[in-house]
Amino acid sequence: MKIRSADFVMSNSNVTKAPQERMPEYAFIGRSNVGKSSLINMLMERKDLAKISGKPGKTQLINHFKINDEWFLVDLPGYGYAKVSKKKRTIFQFFIENYFKEREQLVCTFVLIDSRHDPQKIDLEFMKFLGENQIPFCIAFTKADKLGSSKLNKQITSYKKKLLNTWETLPKSFITSSSTGLGREEFLDFIDGVNED
Ligand code: GDP
Repeated sequence: MKIRSADFVMSNSNVTKAPQERMPEYAFIGRSNVGKSSLINMLMERKDLAKISGKPGKTQLINHFKINDEWFLVDLPGYGYAKVSKKKRTIFQFFIENYFKEREQLVCTFVLIDSRHDPQKIDLEFMKFLGENQIPFCIAFTKADKLGSSKLNKQITSYKKKLLNTWETLPKSFITSSSTGLGREEFLDFIDGVNED
């Protein structure tokens, strides 16, 4: 897929106010600092489409971008940042939860995982939530350039093995690096394929 246009549409904390156009939608989510903004910018070949925020947890809204006038890319707030107060976190989870439960045109959610990290409780719980609500998702391993190739393979194999403790089948996964562009074509081909179905 060639990215011909990538435009910011709106930010929201309420899914009922999200764009009404019925286009396939793909959401990006992960722990703060996982590399979400960098991945979105890399995929879209835009320098600062998603703001790479110095402050983790800053982008706490549902951000819609229209891509090629064909689909929506949704940048969701990062979860699990310790400095967000308990009260704030409850509200923030509630509107994200509503987004997932109510957004009918959502076709796939990309759960971002830092390639260097072992499975974290919050990520596993989030995937469980998606599974329980029958929301299709893929995993995008980020920052792959930070590990050597044998360490990277070992880490990803071990991550998948741990997922198989809870999941019968593994979700599709992508290995990406925003620094090198690794995974870009595969990612966009996947979206293209789903959009054509
Ligand atoms: P977000 O909070 O999930 O949106 O994360 P950012 O995209 O802001 O990235 C967090 C930090 O990780 C920044 O310092 C990025 O430069 C760095 N980073 C993100 N992706 C990569 C990557 O693929 N490779 C490397 N080496 N650094 C990355």
